[in-house]
Amino acid sequence: MTNDSLHTAVQVLFNEALVRDGREPRTLPQDINKRPLLDRLLCLRQPLPFAPGVLEQIEEILRSEHHENISLNDVPAYSVNDTQSISLYRGDLTLITDDLLLVNPANTKMLGCFVPTHKCLDNIIHSRAGPQVRAECAAILQDRGVDEVDTAVPLLTGAGVLDVRGIVHVAGPALERRRPPTSQERQSLWDTYTNSLNVAAKSGATAVAFPCISTGIFAFPVDDAANIALDAAAAWFSRNSAPMRVIFVLWTDQDEKSYASAVERVFPSLAPVPVFRPLPARALKWIKEAQTVIVHAGAGMSVDAVGKLGLGLDYTSTELFERLYPSLEDDEDLTRLYETIGHEWEDELVKWGFIFSHAHNVLNWGKTPVYANLESVIGDRPYTIMTSNADQLFVQSGFDPNHVFTRQGNYARFQCLKPCSQESYFDAAPWVDRAMPHLDPLDLYVPEELQSDLIPVCPKCGGEVFFNVRGGDWFLEKPYHDAEKRYSADVGRFVEEAKKEGGTVVILEIGAGFNTPSVVRWPSERLVLEHGGVVKLVRVNVDHPEFAQPLPPDSAVGVRVSGGDFLRAVLHE
Ligand SMILES: [Zn+2]
Ligand SMILES: [Zn+2]
Repeated sequence: MTNDSLHTAVQVLFNEALVRDGREPRTLPQDINKRPLLDRLLCLRQPLPFAPGVLEQIEEILRSEHHENISLNDVPAYSVNDTQSISLYRGDLTLITDDLLLVNPANTKMLGCFVPTHKCLDNIIHSRAGPQVRAECAAILQDRGVDEVDTAVPLLTGAGVLDVRGIVHVAGPALERRRPPTSQERQSLWDTYTNSLNVAAKSGATAVAFPCISTGIFAFPVDDAANIALDAAAAWFSRNSAPMRVIFVLWTDQDEKSYASAVERVFPSLAPVPVFRPLPARALKWIKEAQTVIVHAGAGMSVDAVGKLGLGLDYTSTELFERLYPSLEDDEDLTRLYETIGHEWEDELVKWGFIFSHAHNVLNWGKTPVYANLESVIGDRPYTIMTSNADQLFVQSGFDPNHVFTRQGNYARFQCLKPCSQESYFDAAPWVDRAMPHLDPLDLYVPEELQSDLIPVCPKCGGEVFFNVRGGDWFLEKPYHDAEKRYSADVGRFVEEAKKEGGTVVILEIGAGFNTPSVVRWPSERLVLEHGGVVKLVRVNVDHPEFAQPLPPDSAVGVRVSGGDFLRAVLHE
């Protein structure tokens, strides 16, 4: 994007807004972040004509921005009959391009959302498409002599700068929270889909992408909404012979679950219809081209490590906890693994039953497909790994312990809880191995008569010990200093070599969330800011693929997908 045209356009819109409020025009402060301000000013702006050249300038800015577009042709279609099909697509609606209509879940005022802080799809679509779309909506309303339309009445406009055929704006029913939909509201949602398909077919369109209309802020339960969406599509197919692709655009896990079971019910012969999750081409390219690999892994990587139990090592899972430690819910009121960190244990013998048993389970988790796939993706390139996971799954999976930095600690070590000195830590394994034969997995506790024999104390002060993991300010970091130095040296060497040889380094960041963003996410972003161009960041995160700061699109990409799905997909490319 040309910075000058952005500055000019924002200055014009800013002054326009000031004058509208009866204030004097003034020069924008130099340090203001103009790109978000452009969205904000356009969001708040009534659909009035622009000064000459300004609309063109804004559209040029929008066109110059890089998005990971997905061609409609790349979205697999599942045929209902010779000319009609459905697809399930998980991702960003506005990224789909080519000859299709996008459905905008609008409100009945039909001019888009005027609340800049809303992350609603109505806002996203208007801001990506540009102000021309709002102007067209306003012109249609004016033509009809109305300032509002009913629920389920679609308006068709052009698509602004988006590379699609057009946009169908339609308001689905809005429910009161926590109230099941009435039969009228169900009918209204049905009409929303049916009327949109009618308008699309009448305009000659042969493909329509629908978001999950009325879910989210309009509070329609997703299960109900998915069933109505699929039923309406099926009924439309049976009554119309026009060729039509219906793409259902999903956003959340709940959407996926609800649509999968709705497809199974409505189109049993097609089920299961796989959900298409597009991978950005540059993510694949960077991973393929890099000469060295930096892996930054968070909890999501362990969540995807589905082991012998058929479950991942998910610290938030009640199912896993129930399977591993069934007695702890009654004994200690615990339901998930993360609650055990910092827990005030009522019974010391139960606590040690858990510690031994958990160390044993985690340290014998074994190699799982997600780690094997990561190994294949890295291939024989040099790598270095930093992870917030204390579970040793990298080392268990055969990664070189000399290049694994577990900065949040390690379940294979115990430490003094005081701690009485920087050296008050020791290997857990001998203690765990000795205790395990004396434990009953269904009723975890250390037999009282063996307490002094089996439970370790600090070898220096005789005090209480616990896992050497970052659970409080007692955490001893010293055991990780060498690993940290090696990690820093690896990263420094990778970057230097890449600079010298004209190559690149890729950071593959997987499943690092916001529990401790400073541990994994921020270091990834810092490396890109320091060595942009040479260091490429691929952030793989099903919940938060975004960046905390603007990063150059030629050096950073966020992919909204789980680590397991991502690595599998990379290997199949
Ligand atoms: Zn909104
Ligand atoms: Zn001690």
